[in-house]
Amino acid sequence: MLKPFIAANWKMNKTVGETEEFIQSFIPMIEGITDADILIAPPYTSLGAAFRLLQTTNIKLAGQNVHYEEKGAFTGEISPAMLLAEGCSDVIIGHSERRQYFSETDEIVNKKVKTARKNSLEVILCIGESLQEREGDKTFEVLDRQLTGSLKDMQMAGISIAYEPIWAIGTGKTATPGQANEAHAFIRGWLKKNKDGAERVRILYGGSVTPENIEILMAQPEVNGALVGGASLKPDSFAKIVKGSI
Ligand code: PEP
Repeated sequence: MLKPFIAANWKMNKTVGETEEFIQSFIPMIEGITDADILIAPPYTSLGAAFRLLQTTNIKLAGQNVHYEEKGAFTGEISPAMLLAEGCSDVIIGHSERRQYFSETDEIVNKKVKTARKNSLEVILCIGESLQEREGDKTFEVLDRQLTGSLKDMQMAGISIAYEPIWAIGTGKTATPGQANEAHAFIRGWLKKNKDGAERVRILYGGSVTPENIEILMAQPEVNGALVGGASLKPDSFAKIVKGSI
């Protein structure tokens, strides 16, 4: 069995002070837990403060995005070196909000994955279908296209996949455990067919994960963890999700 991987995506939430408050409450709640990998992706402005508090723990720190160029004239963007310097070991790439609001295509996502791995950042690559695509029976077609495009010329070492059906993100509508497992099984099958080391890749589920549904989701054979948005913003709720994943 793969070690559960529970990741918090705070999106555009929490100031530096709020980040410190969260982490100071959260650390004692998960003390002694070694059976799950835990990661927090705060906003860029909170990375330094988060790292100072997390460096003596085994909680990983991640950026929510990264640019595909190493440096240069890209106003408002962040480079791999900047994330590394702030203490990040990981980065989330291709979140549906980046694809939807910032026009990230699979080609751009692929370039970001390549630059991140070249700089030794581990990657959580997000993929998932819209409601319209699911209702049109296009889920597997979309996943196939996103995997093919985003992982072009890439080996899987250092990469996890987050399956996040867009219709389940921030909506309170979770995919049923069966729907999640079916999509994860498709992704695992795709990886086995196309990449080495497919059985070692952790596939996380994302979309309205809560302390109430984490156990049933983690009971699915192909679900190896969770990428959590809303329910990761409160220390007790995120701690319950971590504990429920084991
Ligand atoms: C996410 O942002 O990746 C996410 C899954 O959000 P939520 O848990 O709020 O649905």
